[in-house]
This record gives sequence, C-alpha cells and structure tokens, in this order.
Amino acid sequence: MLGSISPSIRAAYRGRFAPSPTGALHLGSLLTAIASYADARAHGGTWLVRIEDLDHTRTVPGAAAALLDTLHRFGMRWDEPVRYQHDRTSAYQTALAQLTAAGLTYPCGCSRTDLARNGRAGVDGTIYPGTCRYGLAANRPLRTVRLRTTAASLAFTDRIHGHHTQNIAEDVGDFVLRRADGIHAYQLAVVVDDAWQQITQVVRGADLLLSTPRQLLLQQHLGLAQPRYAHIPLLVDHNGHKLSKAQAAAPVDPQHPLPTLHHIWALLGQEPLPPVPSVTEFWARATSRWHCARVPAHLTLQIPTAISLCSFN
Ligand code: GLU
Repeated sequence: MLGSISPSIRAAYRGRFAPSPTGALHLGSLLTAIASYADARAHGGTWLVRIEDLDHTRTVPGAAAALLDTLHRFGMRWDEPVRYQHDRTSAYQTALAQLTAAGLTYPCGCSRTDLARNGRAGVDGTIYPGTCRYGLAANRPLRTVRLRTTAASLAFTDRIHGHHTQNIAEDVGDFVLRRADGIHAYQLAVVVDDAWQQITQVVRGADLLLSTPRQLLLQQHLGLAQPRYAHIPLLVDHNGHKLSKAQAAAPVDPQHPLPTLHHIWALLGQEPLPPVPSVTEFWARATSRWHCARVPAHLTLQIPTAISLCSFN
C-alpha cells in the first residue's frame, strides 16, 4: 500500500530535512519540514537536519541559524548534530573520483550558451547534446564534469505518487556532477550525504521527484543503499506559481506557530486535530495521527484563500 512502511524498515527509520539556507523558511519549506518530521516521529524514527549550503554563492548569511530557530519554535527537534554540506567537500571529491575511476564521467567544455544553442528540452532542463562525450572539443578548457548515462529505464515507487519511471539518458541526458565554478552538483552531494547519514526515508518537495532517478543511478554506481522516497506537493500561489522566497513566500511567523501548524496539517490532508494549548501538545497528538497515505498525490497544492499569506507576515 502506498504510504506504508514495512515493520523491518520501521525499526531503522532515519529521515532528514535538508533546507538550502538561501533565505528565511517560507510556508512551502515549512510544509515539507512538517511532513518529514511527522513521518519520522510517527514511525518512531530518527530525524536529522542537514543544511545544504553547498552553493556558497546562494547562501545568505544568518539564514541557516534562522531556519534552525524557526524549526525549533515550531516544535521540531533533531536527534543528532546538524550537518553542513560546506564541511563535506572531500567526501564529494572522493565519490567523484570513484565514478571517474569507473569510467563513468567525462570533462566537458561547453558553456550554458552552447547548451542553449545545441541542446533540446528534456523533462528537467536542457538535454546535453553530447558534444564532449568522446573528448573535449578543441581549444575548450574544462568547465564541468558530467556523468556518462546509458539508455535504460530507472523506476521507483514513491510513497505518495506511486510508480515513477524515467530513462535518464533520453529524458535528462549526461548531467553535471561538478559545476564550472568547482562546486559539486546537488545530485552528487545529496546522494553522498544521504548515504553517510544512513537515511532510509526521504520526505521532500515534489520539485525533486524528477531528480530522484538521477540519484538512484548515482547510488547504484557508488554502491550506496537506496532510501525510500515520499514527495510532498509543492505549495503554489493563486496563480499556480511556486512560492519563492522572492515573491509570495512570506517567511513564516515563528512567534505564532500553532495556527500555522494546524493550517499546514490540513493542507497535508491529515485529519484535523483538536485545539491544543502548546506546540508540544500539537506534536504529541499529531505524531500518532500522521498518515503519509493521506497526503494529496499532487505535484502542487494551491494555497487556499482561507490562508492569507499576509497572516504569516
Ligand atoms: N536542499 C534542497 C532544497 O532546499 C532539498 C534537497 C533534498 O531534500 O533532497 O530544496
């Protein structure tokens, strides 16, 4: 049954919330955090927080501390020290070296402009046309390192969305493992870190559903265990736009967590909880009532008019 977890996995449940510190926690990220926390607690599991500050060019100073403070005020408690991706570069280097030693990577000298000119649209961005696949084009300095993909379908069963299949070579193409600025790509880092932290259950935003097959492929190549995945619908505004930090994504108000917790609980399709006096009380009740299978199997969820974004200002 979708959403359910077998008893043997239950015992070993390790989940995580992995925000990027690019601004204050907004309603959409809070929804994901709450789903991830509720699912871990409902299964008697361990819940971790990992700050994905891999891309220092997008990191906002002070954002990580603010995110952690918000999670704390909303009653979410992590069970092990918070980990930061900026400490993990050597692990990403080692993984990349392992892939290279296996002949699975190649250096690429193409720029974004080359890609825009020669690539065709895939399911998640432009598909690399393979220009440097058999050697760097003449006079091109190395820019990125790519994974050499092969045409084979990769399938997994998402706990919310069910069966999902993708042919990476055809739908995504040879993807970047190390960017032109030397920063390791999210796809590589997330796989290395989920394995390092022994994550068994990934509950995260549905914007990453299409990334999951790339992560499964890397796990296979690196000989890493594969977690189970549940992709929570993305909160969108009344125009169907993703809540971004820039526009409608008003940071949540950590001073008044209870109304927001109840609103989000309802958005996640869960049975309403009675009024409670405290955040601790909320979680005490929520934990035993969480059912992942009740989360709407949509990629996006429109924020109901009843929840005015202004109320989170
Ligand atoms: N760091 C990503 C984000 O903030 C989440 C990555 C993940 O959960 O795998 O969107």
